[in-house]
Amino acid sequence: MNVLVINCGSSSLKFQLINSETEDVLAKGLCERIGIEGSQLVYQPADGEKEKTQAPMPTHTQAIQLVIDALVNDKTGVIKSLSEIGAVGHRLVHGGEEFANPTVITEEVIAAVERCNDLAPLHNPANLIGVRACQELMPGVPMVGVFDTAFHQTMPEKAFLYGIPYEYYEKYKVRRYGFHGTSHMYVSRRVAELEGRPYEELKTIVCHLGNGSSVCAVKNGKSVDTSMGLTPLEGLIMGTRSGDVDPGAMEFVAKKENLDLNGVMNVLNKKSGVLGLSGISSDFRDLEDAAEKNDPAGLRALEAFNYRVAKYIGAYAAAMNGVDVICFTAGVGENGIDTREAICSYLGYLGVEIDKEANNVRGKEQVISSPGSKVKVYCLPTNEELAIARATVELVTK
Ligand code: AMP
Repeated sequence: MNVLVINCGSSSLKFQLINSETEDVLAKGLCERIGIEGSQLVYQPADGEKEKTQAPMPTHTQAIQLVIDALVNDKTGVIKSLSEIGAVGHRLVHGGEEFANPTVITEEVIAAVERCNDLAPLHNPANLIGVRACQELMPGVPMVGVFDTAFHQTMPEKAFLYGIPYEYYEKYKVRRYGFHGTSHMYVSRRVAELEGRPYEELKTIVCHLGNGSSVCAVKNGKSVDTSMGLTPLEGLIMGTRSGDVDPGAMEFVAKKENLDLNGVMNVLNKKSGVLGLSGISSDFRDLEDAAEKNDPAGLRALEAFNYRVAKYIGAYAAAMNGVDVICFTAGVGENGIDTREAICSYLGYLGVEIDKEANNVRGKEQVISSPGSKVKVYCLPTNEELAIARATVELVTK
């Protein structure tokens, strides 16, 4: 079956068409600047050149229509007609406590996702626009929603509660949810496969390090803790997000800089992280270049980032009473050779030993620890689209 995987944002839409039998990506691409002047479709068939087409996309429905047209197009298309799309898998961001698993999208499900909208006001409504547009253009094609938060619904209460009045959880469900769940699930499952060990018996720490970053403790096949919270702002120092910070520090800054709550949130989400610390860039390639030239601004941002990741790994080894495997994934985790080495240099007490030669790898599944290391360490590319396609097929063929 061919599964169209859609990741719909407010003004952009990423897609992949995946053959679920071979797990090959037949075509992929994105629509940019939907609803804005200058929109374009970037389309790449598996065995062809990347094409960029400028075309008006006033709405997401028009954008998805252009994607379908490209997929069935005589010249660069990869299928003959729409009927060759057996199902659509949608990435949905926040499922709150309503969704602990991927789910077939029905009107009741859409209503339940809408109930979670105020937990992710930027993402959930945009995701649902994508769902509605696909329903309009592909009536009768089954659709599945795969939530970023769902994998972490197994976290115990002691891990998901904040130390604030319990009534806020009771009244508003204010708690830690975690994100990147599809990635953490894919990587932790894949590592069990590669290790040839039962998923249900492994203690794995997944470090999803990208522009947004989170660490997850997966014990016996279940997420037992993760570093992001009610929103993706908590936890690690990220590209532009602060991660953990004393709210009192921000009250102090707000008074000094005369910022209101929106101003504070803007600083924490967009001006902080390694960008804020370095004043150079949120992109790790720029920071690595700066660090190579001994630029103190680049060095301090990378050191603070690495130290925070190492602290979370330590915390999660404690939470699981040990760790068998540590995995690095996403843009920085898969490509940041120095970053991986620097993080692992804190982990000698766990018996982690990195093999420098093996660690000299980018974007490839590889063990990067030495044979004597007490904990196996992997570079392991994530594949959220494939995870969504698998979950979609599993549900629609049930
Ligand atoms: P993601 O959010 O997973 O797409 O990751 C984006 C981040 O990965 C950016 O900060 C990039 O700088 C980083 N990244 C991508 N390629 C490399 C590379 N070759 N070396 C270091 N960082 C990289």
